[in-house]
Amino acid sequence: ERGRLARLKHTPALTMDGQKIELLANIELPDDAAAAVEAGAVGVGLFRSEFLFMNRKGRLPDEDEQYEAYRRAVEGMKGLPVTIRTIDVGADKPLDDGIRDAAHLNPALGLRAIRWSLADPAMFLTQLRAILRAAAHGRVNLLIPMLAHATEIRQTLSLLDFARAELDNRGVVYGPVQVGAMIEIPAAALTLRTFLKYFDFLSIGTNDLIQYTLAIDRADESVAHLYDPLHPAVLQLVAQTIAECNARGKGVSVCGEMAGDVAMTRLLLGLGLRSFSMHPSQILAVKQEVLRADARRLEGWSHEVLAAEDPGRLLSKEETQ
Ligand code: PEP
Ligand code: MG
Repeated sequence: ERGRLARLKHTPALTMDGQKIELLANIELPDDAAAAVEAGAVGVGLFRSEFLFMNRKGRLPDEDEQYEAYRRAVEGMKGLPVTIRTIDVGADKPLDDGIRDAAHLNPALGLRAIRWSLADPAMFLTQLRAILRAAAHGRVNLLIPMLAHATEIRQTLSLLDFARAELDNRGVVYGPVQVGAMIEIPAAALTLRTFLKYFDFLSIGTNDLIQYTLAIDRADESVAHLYDPLHPAVLQLVAQTIAECNARGKGVSVCGEMAGDVAMTRLLLGLGLRSFSMHPSQILAVKQEVLRADARRLEGWSHEVLAAEDPGRLLSKEETQ
């Protein structure tokens, strides 16, 4: 099977009805770019930058060290775009003890991701400057995790302007970035209009969207059986986000585990998704599903799945094309 899939590496990801599908890679460290290119990814849809900050024994990477790391990822992708997500620590991704008090009452609902960044603007500005500088070496998109409030959006964007002004003042070279937001809190999906207004693109983080929609801690094994990507409420938020972005001509992708799950590919295509970001090891298997699918003909069936009381059952009894 692996050998057969390998032959698909250079095959364009087109559906049977000729829709072009973008298959991107999720990476954790700059050196993962090689695996992304090797797997045939057309870019990095999610570089989880927090991995540069973890296991640091007390010292966080400074601006130059971050800049070198982001630049290595950009150069490793050989001209393909790289979406760098700003730090998403907290909850399931703690920093070392001593860097920041990690003991919170309920870390998944606490000071994580953009909340953490906005609580420490000096740290956040350092990261933003490093990313802007790396953007002088290739195509870079900047992605912000865990936004829910319009005030957080405006604060984030004004800090980005401030980071550019700091670089201007220092006379340091930097490049242009497209700016996107993760849609991974139900409140964000339900106020999409605000996100459409401020951002160039959106990326749906289904891992957290499932956690927060169903009130299931994604790290708690005792409730893992209730962590259901096919819950109708989850599907509705995903479908609505894709549809609103498509209607507005705004780029949207899914970068949670759902995007790399071959059992979900046809459903997401039918809901209008044209960009998927996943672990590099899943790219060829998802491409195979894409090549076999007729995206337009999947639309009706996908909306039936969406409306079902128990979508999982319909998913296994798929429509015949
Ligand atoms: C997500 O929440 O779906 C996501 C892609 O981000 P992470 O898994 O890093 O929280
Ligand atoms: Mg997330």
